[in-house]
Amino acid sequence: MSFDAIIVGAGFAGAVAARELAERGGKKVLVLERRDHIGGNAYDCLDQAGVLIHQYGPHIFHTNNKRVYDYLSRFTAWREYQHRVVADIPMGEGRGHMPVPFNLTSLEIAFGKERAQALERKLIDTYGPERKVTILELRLNPDRELSALADYVYEHVFVCYTMKQWGQKPEEIDPNTTARVPVFLSRDDRYFQDAYQGMPLKGYTPLFEAMLHHPNIQVELGVDAATALDLSGSCIRFRGEDFTGPVIFTGAVDEFFSCRFGRLPYRTLDFQFETHSVDFYQTHGTVNYTMDQPYTRITEFKHLTGQVLPGTTTIMKEFSRAYTGAPEETPYYAIISPFNNALHGRYAALAGRHPNFYLLGRLAEYKYYNMDAIVARALELCDTLCPPAAH
Ligand code: FAD
Ligand code: UDP
Repeated sequence: MSFDAIIVGAGFAGAVAARELAERGGKKVLVLERRDHIGGNAYDCLDQAGVLIHQYGPHIFHTNNKRVYDYLSRFTAWREYQHRVVADIPMGEGRGHMPVPFNLTSLEIAFGKERAQALERKLIDTYGPERKVTILELRLNPDRELSALADYVYEHVFVCYTMKQWGQKPEEIDPNTTARVPVFLSRDDRYFQDAYQGMPLKGYTPLFEAMLHHPNIQVELGVDAATALDLSGSCIRFRGEDFTGPVIFTGAVDEFFSCRFGRLPYRTLDFQFETHSVDFYQTHGTVNYTMDQPYTRITEFKHLTGQVLPGTTTIMKEFSRAYTGAPEETPYYAIISPFNNALHGRYAALAGRHPNFYLLGRLAEYKYYNMDAIVARALELCDTLCPPAAH
């Protein structure tokens, strides 16, 4: 069979692009995926205990983009779910929980009712009600009390967690990263405030199956694109023949080009799964360990998925470290910095020598994209590759 388009990777970027090119563009699409399953890092499956787990870290869908929500809703129904996270920290003789993002409820837990009231008034006078203030912004406040509060939040929520996650302090990493979890001058204790939130009712993998189920789409699993595609000449070659259709690449671009300019730095994660013989292990979907422990957070999937399975639950601990490129490792997070972005730019320029080769996705674009951003990017790219018919 001959193909009109080739897509590397069957995560959100690849699956949405494949569906759009196949359906809207009427193209015959080949998807090459090096893993033995579709879904990219959003893949989920049942573990040995029968618990629906997220193999590559907890994924909660949230977006303000109606187009993205409507698009995915074609392939899945949704389970109503609002993610709530608490920090587990030493308190008095024992340990306690406080909402993350740090909010007005956290303020009261940390400082007691009376002092919290005074601080709340000052915060709202300074920044306004329901405002989100990044920790870096709060730390710049010259007021003595607010500066002490900023120090508290920095010490209790950010510094240790960020050191574990990135090996760097909050002020050393890209400011947009800590801005994802701002101090929130509100009693809304949800992790996200987006208009659309939830979990695919039957899980992510069925969503991907539905998206890729189309007569014009063929998926090959267990194929590394580097063995099938050759970009060394003036034309892209696929399995020995010239290929002039669009090729959309969603993997790590430095590795695709054999790291010829040097490796792009990433953080990888080690996941430790544990199954326990209890209904629930913890009170929340995710508990962050912001002051101690070697892991950053523990997620209990049953809270996310709503799966009813008495007497058994599976949790996951996440340990972050530098990605080295070893075959068993996965690059999960780009380490955004001017230097690294410039290095990525060199690879993007190399890719750009072929006008029919497109970089799309969290790894390929070296960005800290959530799922909804990737779906939006894929739809936008396909708007240009197969523009809607003029009316
Ligand atoms: P991926 O999902 O990484 O898919 C890329 C695919 O390409 C992979 O399947 C890979 O095997 C394949 N591939 C790569 N190279 C090759 C090659 N050479 N040949 C063949 N195949 C190849 N987002 C949210 O919105 N909410 C969340 O709660 C959330 N939680 C997250 C938690 C963690 C721990 C991580 C790491 C990310 C999380 N994300 C979350 C982000 C989300 O995972 C990404 O936005 C999304 O998966 C990106 O999709 P993608 O298609 O760009 O990349
Ligand atoms: N962060 C933190 N403490 C927390 C939660 C987040 O210091 O309790 C910081 C940390 O630097 C983290 C970043 O905020 O990497 C973004 O957090 P988010 O939960 O969005 O990360 P992700 O879910 O993408 O791993």
